Amino acid sequence: MFQINCEDCGASFEAKTNNRRFCDACNRQRDIDRKRNSRRMYMKPPAEHERPQKPTVDLVTVAVAARKAGMTYGKYVAAMKNTGA
Ligand SMILES: [Zn+2]
Repeated sequence: MFQINCEDCGASFEAKTNNRRFCDACNRQRDIDRKRNSRRMYMKPPAEHERPQKPTVDLVTVAVAARKAGMTYGKYVAAMKNTGA
């Protein structure tokens, strides 16, 4: 048996091999953490590309610009699309 100090909590414990680094309690906790982390890794991140592509110009800005141009919002948006802006 080897007397080992846990690298995590510092408690001394006995182990059959001298390559143990953590006590049973910390080993268990690390196992739980590792599983939790790996599950997080496999979880899909929020997919940006799956969101429908919307014009980045916000509605208020467009509405104000449309009024300044003497157009309705619908006409203005249609005009913007036609010019490719
Ligand atoms: Zn420990």
